[in-house]
Amino acid sequence: MITELLKNEFIDIVGQENYEDSPASKLVYSFDATPNYQAMPDAILSPRDKKEVAEIVKLCNQHKIPIIPRGSGTNLSAGTTPLEGGIVLLFKHLDQILEIDEENLTITVQPGVNTLEMIQTVEEIGLFYPPDPSSMKISQIGGNISENSGGLRGLKYGVTRDYVLGLEIVLPNGEIIRTGGKLAKDVAGYDLTRLFVGSEGTLGIVTEAILKLIPKPETKKTMLALYDSMEAAAQTVSTIIANRVIPATLEFLDQPTLKVVEEFSKIGLPTDVEAVLLIEQDGPIQSVQTDMDKIATICVQSGALKVDVAKSEFEAEQLSTARRSALSALARLKPTTILEDATVPRSEIANMVRAINEIASKYQVEICTFGHAGDGNLHPTCMTDARNKEEMHRVEQALEEIFKKAVSLGGTITGEHGVGAMKAPYLHLKLGEEGIAAMQALKQAFDPNNIMNPSKIFAKSSRKRIVVSQS
Ligand SMILES: Cc1cc2nc3c(=O)[nH]c(=O)nc-3n(C[C@H](O)[C@H](O)[C@H](O)COP(=O)(O)OP(=O)(O)OC[C@H]3O[C@@H](n4cnc5c(N)ncnc54)[C@H](O)[C@@H]3O)c2cc1C
Repeated sequence: MITELLKNEFIDIVGQENYEDSPASKLVYSFDATPNYQAMPDAILSPRDKKEVAEIVKLCNQHKIPIIPRGSGTNLSAGTTPLEGGIVLLFKHLDQILEIDEENLTITVQPGVNTLEMIQTVEEIGLFYPPDPSSMKISQIGGNISENSGGLRGLKYGVTRDYVLGLEIVLPNGEIIRTGGKLAKDVAGYDLTRLFVGSEGTLGIVTEAILKLIPKPETKKTMLALYDSMEAAAQTVSTIIANRVIPATLEFLDQPTLKVVEEFSKIGLPTDVEAVLLIEQDGPIQSVQTDMDKIATICVQSGALKVDVAKSEFEAEQLSTARRSALSALARLKPTTILEDATVPRSEIANMVRAINEIASKYQVEICTFGHAGDGNLHPTCMTDARNKEEMHRVEQALEEIFKKAVSLGGTITGEHGVGAMKAPYLHLKLGEEGIAAMQALKQAFDPNNIMNPSKIFAKSSRKRIVVSQS
């Protein structure tokens, strides 16, 4: 609850134009990209610099007002839904690339920088920032860091965590700290940088980041391998890696997803096959050619019906854009689209996809599957209608069973979308009660008043708990 007095104090910090509490703006920030979660904030603040961020945090800490840091709101785990009210913090004024250091190969950015714009800026000078979430046209670097986002290039290049060298953080008590730096080596105490990456806005606010860059690969080639058996496609993934070839991208789309993506993108994707693998390799021209030849041979030996190599950069771009549009394409089918990201060791992909299909038919729900096959990170996507309570109940049962299956195969409940509020009731499946207690101790140490993004990551004890056996 924000009193008139407190409202005036916030306005003194950010200025009238950066304080919003009209019903319309509260409604806009009451939800994010996650279906079925909505809660009103009390106000929306847009600080102009880190000093203002720190002053806001101090005031919120004093009055125990929840703070929900928000990038572009594209997260899929209800990570920015203001479930306990409070203030939503926007970074529209902290949107600058502060420095590109070509000697140390780093870029220093504010959290509100758009991911794709940053990637394009460094590519213009022959450098490369690999983490490429499919939402990169819209997402912000602060959101990527706080979710530890992955992308299509994760198999070869890793995820956001692997590129964060240092952070500036406003702690829940309003103090500002810096972690890491432009350093390849740094073992001065606990690795706070890694702790904050993926902490989903629950431990502090990122106000600056130093990110690692690498030289831009000389060239890239793209191919599509078509299969009439999902098992053969999944087996190909393991065989490629076992043959010591690490493609830049190794994506999987099942037939229902293919059909919808083709209807959406109209680029001539095959819709009569069971599954496709979208494979990219980048690097020096000679080694890319060698790898692609090797990969094509493995695909055919593993049962691919056909292997098509993109003939031009335009065709290659069309294929990866089509893959990136999978969620948007599926979202056209029904009013509610629930995208999950159960992840398993890549050797278990075939088992996991088979289990997803069995679970979908057991509960009579519509699930399409695509994802980052090379990382074992699958996106079973359920098309449903939140207004149909009976169907939603079956959807929840199906998703629960998918999480249990992933964990029983040695996997996890989320590979890249984070826990947020949505997966909090399932976290114990992965961590056990002791693991959750260890994380809660950290949260308590940093944020004793629980003002930073409350109700995220940790489920309320009254919530349903599910038990799964590990195998
Ligand atoms: C179509 C679509 C495709 C997607 N594809 C991918 C994908 O390929 N890979 C992937 O990993 N994810 C993907 N996502 C999920 C989402 O885009 C990512 O999680 C992304 O990183 C979120 O960025 P954002 O700027 O929208 O952050 P938000 O959704 O606004 O916030 C995400 C989290 O970060 C916190 N946060 C934001 N800024 C700060 C800050 N400055 N300091 C502290 N905490 C902060 C928030 O509190 C929240 O917990 C996709 C989503 C959609 C809708």
